[in-house]
Amino acid sequence: ASFASLGLIPQLVEACEKLGFKKPSDIQVKSIPFALQGRDIIGLAQTGFFGSNERKGSGKTAAFALPVLQALWNAPQPLFACVMAPTRELAFQISETFEGLGVTIGVRCAVIVGGMDMMSQSIALAKKPHIIVCTPGRLVDHLENTKGFNLKALKYLIMDEADRLLDLDFGAEIEKVLKVIPRERNTFLFSATMTSKVEKLQRASLTDPVKVSV
Ligand code: AMP
Repeated sequence: ASFASLGLIPQLVEACEKLGFKKPSDIQVKSIPFALQGRDIIGLAQTGFFGSNERKGSGKTAAFALPVLQALWNAPQPLFACVMAPTRELAFQISETFEGLGVTIGVRCAVIVGGMDMMSQSIALAKKPHIIVCTPGRLVDHLENTKGFNLKALKYLIMDEADRLLDLDFGAEIEKVLKVIPRERNTFLFSATMTSKVEKLQRASLTDPVKVSV
């Protein structure tokens, strides 16, 4: 398979080439066509083969970022997608992937994580980024305390490393987020393992999902 044959627009195919991606990874081949059709996705991806030693993965970040970027290109709007990740480091990595792949379509991202200045994050949110990459606790903090910020127009919700999100006790925060975003949206959930907590979250947040495992 090639990136173009998965249904991606030329701008995104070009972005993949620029990042040195020669061909799509397994999880990308299996999930991108369904995601482009508007389906919800559960991705189970444990170990991977791509990347350097400190960043070995399956390519799951691009597997969810590319369809989101294509949907954004088709219908641009602020606060289009929100990605929840368990750690700051992962949130920054995800944001870098969105920015790298989305440079050709002019994507703007904000990273909203704990342990950093609230005020500068509020300013970043006021600039209406397309994509928010966050840790759930800090996102809820902004939803409750940052005037004028809400996710009422959100089109895509992505939960990355859902098993770790739940192990770190972000369940209550995720529930709060689910209550304030549109029911009509697309949702992707990625996890290394399928635990009973992840299954419960899956039932609460996804509609007729396609299951993809690598
Ligand atoms: P991830 O599993 O999303 O953390 O990605 C792990 C690493 O693989 C990152 O450094 C990506 O930039 C890289 N990567 C993702 N997809 C591909 C691909 N199709 N070809 C080569 N490298 C890739």
